[in-house]
Amino acid sequence: MTGRGGRPLALVIEDDLRYVRQLRADLAVGDFAAVFAGTGGQGLHEAISVAPDVVLLDLGLPDIEALSVFAQLRASCDAPVIAMSAREDDDGIAGALEAGIDDYLAKPFDLDQLLARLRAVLWRAPGAEVGAPPPFESDGLSVDFAGAEVTVGGRPVALSAAEFRLLRFLARNRDRVFRPAQLVEEVWGPEYAGDRHLTRVYVGRVREKIERDPGAPRHLVTRPGVGYMLRKHE
Ligand code: CA
Repeated sequence: MTGRGGRPLALVIEDDLRYVRQLRADLAVGDFAAVFAGTGGQGLHEAISVAPDVVLLDLGLPDIEALSVFAQLRASCDAPVIAMSAREDDDGIAGALEAGIDDYLAKPFDLDQLLARLRAVLWRAPGAEVGAPPPFESDGLSVDFAGAEVTVGGRPVALSAAEFRLLRFLARNRDRVFRPAQLVEEVWGPEYAGDRHLTRVYVGRVREKIERDPGAPRHLVTRPGVGYMLRKHE
């Protein structure tokens, strides 16, 4: 962590003053240092000058389209990016997830939701539990719960925080089929229950990373009309 006074540093790119005020207070409670930018242009400038540990990016900015800001952030700093958006802006969220944003917060959100997302992206292994079960091993895919590591054919796979949460949940519950809405609730929490596109987008992204042929998955399979499951091959 490179933040001021040993605290992680969050860059908030947000033009809505209500959220700026809320985030200023919440980030202080969570013991984050914070820098605020009211426009995409200013945010990109700050990203280079302060080298944040994490970026909170509003999807509706006054000057530059948020996805363009995101693409430039990716090019200029390696901090994880959490998108923030009002629930009615589903296209924006789906587009952001497809663009590779690390996670997202639906507005309005509360302190606990904010801190949970920040911890998830900063310490990508929120579930590196004590007494974790042995790794899930199946046909070249390995999910190590204790170290939060995923390998395919022995090679490590880089998953975002949310991608890992989804895969971990399915690996813990191997060979069980889950409806998309169930997965959203289990992986993201009940407040996201309406956002079923999350499952579709994330299943696709995880498949791209763990399947030899994402179009004909062997691990993360679809049960048509029902949902998804992670299959354990003997
Ligand atoms: Ca806005």
